[in-house]
Amino acid sequence: MNFDLSDEHKAFREAVRGFAQRHLRDGALRRAHDSEHPWDVAKLMARQGLLGITIPERDGGQGGSLMDAVIAIEAISEFCPRSADVVQAGNFGAIRVLAEYGTDDQKRRYLQRLLAGEGVICVAMTEAEAGSAVTDLKTSATPDGAGYRINGEKVFTTHGPYANVMLTYARFGPGVGGIGSVLIERGAEGVKQGRPSMFLNGEEWVTTWFDNAYVGPENVVLKEGGFKKQIAGFNVERIGNTARSLAFGRYAYETARQWAMQRRQFGRLLCEFQGLQWKFAEMKVKLDAGQLLLYRAAANADRGFPSAEETAIAKAYCNQAGFDCCNEAMQIMGGMGYTQETLVEYCFRKCRGWMIAGGSLEILKNRIAEGIFERQFSQRPPRNADA
Ligand SMILES: Cc1cc2nc3c(=O)[nH]c(=O)nc-3n(C[C@H](O)[C@H](O)[C@H](O)COP(=O)(O)OP(=O)(O)OC[C@H]3O[C@@H](n4cnc5c(N)ncnc54)[C@H](O)[C@@H]3O)c2cc1C
Repeated sequence: MNFDLSDEHKAFREAVRGFAQRHLRDGALRRAHDSEHPWDVAKLMARQGLLGITIPERDGGQGGSLMDAVIAIEAISEFCPRSADVVQAGNFGAIRVLAEYGTDDQKRRYLQRLLAGEGVICVAMTEAEAGSAVTDLKTSATPDGAGYRINGEKVFTTHGPYANVMLTYARFGPGVGGIGSVLIERGAEGVKQGRPSMFLNGEEWVTTWFDNAYVGPENVVLKEGGFKKQIAGFNVERIGNTARSLAFGRYAYETARQWAMQRRQFGRLLCEFQGLQWKFAEMKVKLDAGQLLLYRAAANADRGFPSAEETAIAKAYCNQAGFDCCNEAMQIMGGMGYTQETLVEYCFRKCRGWMIAGGSLEILKNRIAEGIFERQFSQRPPRNADA
């Protein structure tokens, strides 16, 4: 067993670090407080080969592994946490589902633009009454000629206000087996969006309504029976979310470490107080442990999709560890940590969101428990509960 990155991975990490240092370090603070998508960064990353890292070369990607994409997120986050969102959007989310299950025609019409950093695809899954219980979603796809009419409402969609295309989960029939997904352009007829609202992390989301929006057969990604495949693809999204949690926790830790080595109180450096040293020791243990869980899930996935169980374990741990490190870093930095003079408060706000998004901590723990006991535990009331 080797706990080190391979020479190839190390070289890749250094190359991405160099890129981030040259192009992204300046302006990191400004970018973090701008709710606009950083399109300039996306185009720069496209030229650098940092979008579509895991997507096959025949589809315009780099043909790399999930581990490469995780390393890219880590290296970018070191210098500009906000830019790590661009790595996420260009590698981990709905883009990966499109690359895996989309037709050649869909890839030609949408993927190329995404890989050029000129567009973003979002995943519209959550509904007001279907959050953790996502399989309760009601957005319907009703046959109309060769295509479908989409009716329903989606909430909390990251990138929703500016994405050019939405990977929309819709119901073709009853039950889990009836769920599939379609590509809907944001500006299409029958698509309406509400006023943007803001998450704590500074990102905007909107409610999107589909009112008899027509989707031709050419825009169906997965028909009924596609839900399991979608969730397999969604585990890739979860790995990106996991990697950012840990990387942002590490960013906050490193900021606080530098602070503790130069800030004096009572005539001593902060790093000389044992009460703070123990905080650093606990943070370091969490970051190292999280790193191993994240790399296990990513390395075992190689080019394919990561295992649901390893992903759930890594995400549950790293979401909490990342948040705890940001929280402690803020405490160590006192008033300064609570201001917008550094990115610690930004990392704190971002990490808090990932404990809910992409499968909340509780839902992940439910999944882990299923692995432990080798059985499924229905979260629904017994059928005759009201009888
Ligand atoms: C920052 C952010 C970005 C997001 N981006 C997107 C996106 O791009 N696309 C998209 O479709 N959605 C997105 N979401 C929505 C996200 O997927 C949901 O918020 C999440 O699934 C939880 O659903 P909910 O908010 O309805 O909470 P609820 O499902 O109402 O849950 C409320 C609480 O109850 C707990 N809970 C629920 N069921 C159980 C159970 N069985 N056992 C134990 N505890 C339980 C939950 O863990 C949570 O703590 C985003 C959310 C956030 C915060």
